[in-house]
Amino acid sequence: MSEQKRILVTSALPYANGPLHLGHLAGAYLTADFYVRYKRLTGADVAFICGSDEHGVPITIAAEKEGVNPQDIVDRYHEKNKKVFEDFGISFDYYGRTSSRVHHETSQEFFTTLNEKGFFKKKTEQQLYDPKADMFLPDRYVKGTCPNCGFEEAYGDQCENCGTSLSPTELENPVSALTGEKPELKETEHWYMPLGDVQPKFEKWLDTRKNWKPNVMGQVKSWLKDGLADRAATRDLSWGVPVPLPEAKGKVLYVWFDAPIGYVSATKEWALQLGDADAWKKYWQDEQTQLYHFIGKDNIVFHCIMFPVVLMEHGDYVLPENVPANEFLNLEGKKLSTSRGWAVWLHEYLEDFEPDLLRYALGATLPETKDSDFSWKEFQARVNNELAAVLGNFVFRSLSFTSKFADGVVPELVDPAGTDVEALKAIDSQKEKITSSYEAFRFKEAIQESLQLARIGNKYFTETEPWKTRNDNPQACANSLHVSLQICAALSVLMEPILPDAMKTLRSQLGYTGKVDWDSVSDAMLSAGSAIHPGKVLFNKVEDEAIEAQIKRLEERAAVDTPVSDFPALKDNIEFDDFMKLDIRAGKILSAEKIEKSNKLLKLQVDLGIEKRTIVSGIAKHVDIDALKDQKVCVVANLAPKKLMGVESQGMILMAEDSEGNLKFAETEAEPGSTIT
Ligand SMILES: [Zn+2]
Repeated sequence: MSEQKRILVTSALPYANGPLHLGHLAGAYLTADFYVRYKRLTGADVAFICGSDEHGVPITIAAEKEGVNPQDIVDRYHEKNKKVFEDFGISFDYYGRTSSRVHHETSQEFFTTLNEKGFFKKKTEQQLYDPKADMFLPDRYVKGTCPNCGFEEAYGDQCENCGTSLSPTELENPVSALTGEKPELKETEHWYMPLGDVQPKFEKWLDTRKNWKPNVMGQVKSWLKDGLADRAATRDLSWGVPVPLPEAKGKVLYVWFDAPIGYVSATKEWALQLGDADAWKKYWQDEQTQLYHFIGKDNIVFHCIMFPVVLMEHGDYVLPENVPANEFLNLEGKKLSTSRGWAVWLHEYLEDFEPDLLRYALGATLPETKDSDFSWKEFQARVNNELAAVLGNFVFRSLSFTSKFADGVVPELVDPAGTDVEALKAIDSQKEKITSSYEAFRFKEAIQESLQLARIGNKYFTETEPWKTRNDNPQACANSLHVSLQICAALSVLMEPILPDAMKTLRSQLGYTGKVDWDSVSDAMLSAGSAIHPGKVLFNKVEDEAIEAQIKRLEERAAVDTPVSDFPALKDNIEFDDFMKLDIRAGKILSAEKIEKSNKLLKLQVDLGIEKRTIVSGIAKHVDIDALKDQKVCVVANLAPKKLMGVESQGMILMAEDSEGNLKFAETEAEPGSTIT
């Protein structure tokens, strides 16, 4: 095994402005946890750091929407998200938050050091300003048309349609996300990171990075090819880390300047909690440490370019060894979208299933080098056909046979046959494969190679037929059980990173009390004569109904939550008295005829109960004229008469218009003449 270094692993700080979903887990947390758990088993000194990103415009916008303070929003979601991570077994050593005092001090120290070193470029410039709200409009406070792809709902910092990174002034037809007003330009001053100036130095460092995933390096190289632009490290906002300069009143650090520093401040807080205030330094400032950032692909530019430049220019810190970013996870073949309700919320998942099942199923379909898809049917298939039918079944057979036919103790291995020896050897060879998969951040492969050992065990059990040999060759039967139990014991450690709860249960069922670490994995983990303690089945099958319920919930929610943006916006409020001026009556069409020279208008005779009316209505294209007799309708009866194509119309028929412009009658079952209010 390679020399064990000190390892610092970070997972992207999630915004504390909403609950976590499947896409989060697949992006930056599950893989980091697999890696960390594996590394801890190998005996490495690991710190696993994360926390809530509590600054930035998405949070202030969420607060404004709810009419509360940003602090209320982040307090709510910090605790919720922290708990969900714990429930899924994401084994952070520390989960911090960027609204903490230590974080404010640490990021201000970074800014001050860089400023004193003359790193920043100060620029006076024109920025978008909302006079109605009396504030500048950074980032997502502006929406408009993307200059790159023409998408009309692009944000001031990024177009979510084409992925282009934008600045608010680049948007065409910008509007304020706060008031809907057209913003003005107003002069302001900001501190910029001159990324272009340091690009040559940065590229030299990048060339020393080994084994970066092609999807990650490819994206970084394409940014570099375009030439790095200056990026502002400050914003005109009230929520965030104040810029530590007297002349910067009313300005805060840009969220992507302070958020990655959150990894440092969280490590500091962890050290304080351990009672060794300086312990963070060896993880961040000792060259023996290997730093790994686990992120989703939308954060590549910040973790692979901006933050390394900040660390490099500061000078006291280690730079990332690798940034094994994941691509995006789709859901049931469609892009995940929280605003459209197309997401699986982690806290809801936990109401129905065990965390281990998702760790496994999601781990097996990770978007490691390209986007991948999660579907509930595949989840079910992974659980039923792999966890239950292969791993669970193998464990169950091994334990129940030992219980019934070997007095519940591990039998001795005597004169093993070739097949026994071969099966035992698989422990070592699979362990080797699993190890190299983890080392290369190929977690899907690590899962497949781990399951492969269970497959080998299952096949061995079937082929050696202990249910037959127990009568005619008891030692062969004993050997089969011995070998099978040793494979189970090896699996209980090798699959620990993926299935921590189930493997803990398995170890107790096997009566394994030895060390749980990578070195202890061998073909002799259990001693002959030691007792086993069979218990509950490790994995229950997921029934069709359970899966159908999940799919139904997803579809129902998507149907409700789909924004009906194709319909016109609501009109301004009117007073009740204005409404009462309308006299709407139930009516019934008596006859209908086309108006000559018009392909739109119909002349209708309508029974209004108290009298008959002639009404001209522009519905010819939308109705079947022969089916109109006796059609029940609603009529605005006191609309002033108006001549249309020479015919006086004495009222208006109410119609409903759908998002595609089709008209349908607003019907009523009421008797003609009834008033509608
Ligand atoms: Zn675009």
